Amino acid sequence: MDFLIRAGVCALAMVAALVSGAPALADQITAVRFGVHDDYTRVVIESDRPMDFRAFTLSDPAARVVIALPGARWSVPGLENGQGRGHGLVGGFRFDPSGQTPRLILELNETAVVREEFTLAPGEGGHRMVIDLAASGEASFTQASGFPEQHQTMTQLVHHAAQVSYVPPSCEAIRVVIDPGHGGRDPGAPGRFGGAPEKTVALNAGLALRDALLATGRYEVIMTRDTDVFLELNERIQIAQGAEADLFISLHADASPSGSSARGAAVYTLSDHGLSRARSRAITEGDWFLSSDTRPQEVNNLLLDMSLQEKRNQSLMFADMLLNSASSVGPLFRSAPLERGFYVLLDSQVPAILFEMGFLTNETDSRNLNDPAFLRRLMGATADSIDSYFQRCGGGEPRRTVVASGGVADPASR
Ligand SMILES: [Zn+2]
Repeated sequence: MDFLIRAGVCALAMVAALVSGAPALADQITAVRFGVHDDYTRVVIESDRPMDFRAFTLSDPAARVVIALPGARWSVPGLENGQGRGHGLVGGFRFDPSGQTPRLILELNETAVVREEFTLAPGEGGHRMVIDLAASGEASFTQASGFPEQHQTMTQLVHHAAQVSYVPPSCEAIRVVIDPGHGGRDPGAPGRFGGAPEKTVALNAGLALRDALLATGRYEVIMTRDTDVFLELNERIQIAQGAEADLFISLHADASPSGSSARGAAVYTLSDHGLSRARSRAITEGDWFLSSDTRPQEVNNLLLDMSLQEKRNQSLMFADMLLNSASSVGPLFRSAPLERGFYVLLDSQVPAILFEMGFLTNETDSRNLNDPAFLRRLMGATADSIDSYFQRCGGGEPRRTVVASGGVADPASR
């Protein structure tokens, strides 16, 4: 077979392309195929043009292979939703075009390592990227999994299987950051119907939520403010980051410009536009995964993409639980999470929601939100939803660490 082995070369070419700011290729992925052999499973990705790619394994939260495909577009007939079933070691796959580096994610049925990756010249079909996966023990999988470190030369690149420290939110000590909105010289929505302004309602709610969470004995609670002080929005994010928070809840009360009829609670998560702002912010502010100058930019980009995607999924999951709980206490303004680019949600990794607890412009809502007994019930329900969200922690398993390495084979050994 006239195939071209270029595993190490393509990784370097990707870095070079990014450094020079070259425009993304408009490569189309036209097929994903699997071949099951005695001791390996072959994954073949076809494209209309030769493409750069890089495969590596991740152990957390599930065993999977991530194939970074810069500039790739999904165009597989019959699989328009980007998902399909695998064969052999691969249970299924999905294409994730979000973020800067599109990627194909293979869910593994069992632990496996990338044995080889190479390209094949076009035959009947298109250009082919080939990744051979071999079953491996738990230990060698963990050893080989994670994100590759930076290497100056191809020799180093192909010989190195390093571990990096990317620590996702843990279950060891669950840290919840409560962010009562506004404060000090920023009153938020004005008080109506004889009630307090938003900053006071938010603070009272925050203190009630803190008490409810501490009473369970399961959480560390960090308040962005517990008095009537002014805080910049960025400080609120920095508090969450500094605490390595597992969840960020910003508490607010709404005001409707269109009158007094709007009422009920709403939960906001970060919008698409907000996600791209979060990306920019992570880059300019230097978030944790960018703090390592030992990783290639392309790997940092991928980490950022995956972190933002995970943040979004987790935030939406919690938002649903919170809406469900809150609906037992009072009416909902919207029964599904809403999306908006709120600044305090812009951290790139902490799952975050903004809870508009009701409308101060509605008399009933205003009365409720100024009633300590109602706030206790609403915050008790909020604490219940936090319990549901952290159910997966099962009372505190050890802090998990994602360990990574490149699935880059050594051409010299072939
Ligand atoms: Zn507000």
